[in-house]
Amino acid sequence: MGDWFETIADVDATAEEADRLGAEVLSWLVEQGIVMAGVNGLNVVTGRAAFYSTGVDRVVCPHCQSAIVDQDDEERWPSFSESIDSWCAGGSGVESCPHCGKSTGLNEWHWSPPWGFGYLGFEFWNWPPLDPGFIADVGNLLGHRVVTHPAERSSG
Ligand SMILES: [Zn+2]
Repeated sequence: MGDWFETIADVDATAEEADRLGAEVLSWLVEQGIVMAGVNGLNVVTGRAAFYSTGVDRVVCPHCQSAIVDQDDEERWPSFSESIDSWCAGGSGVESCPHCGKSTGLNEWHWSPPWGFGYLGFEFWNWPPLDPGFIADVGNLLGHRVVTHPAERSSG
């Protein structure tokens, strides 16, 4: 029971281009007959946002491969989530790795499951699992890196 969604997040779009790109993808989806003009189950999100569908299990440093957040060590998450909060409030979101000291932006960490941070995202509500080819098409259309989030289906 319950609604679920998958997200395709554009992590490269700027605040200025998010609205235009969102409209372009939407009109492409309508053209392709993928969504109806009334927008069934698609929510285009613009504005600074963290895109995710499930909680974080692990966040790994891309430089030294150390896990700086680990689901087995819940104490590490609060300090890291502060940098997400500060990014959402307009900050850089850049954090130093506690192990190697290198500064890393939010989208550069290796997130599992994937999280994305940006100005543009597409939430597909109650859709069948998104086809990788379709996700690639959306990425090509945007001309940007996209991060996708598998849906969390409730077990009930
Ligand atoms: Zn590191």
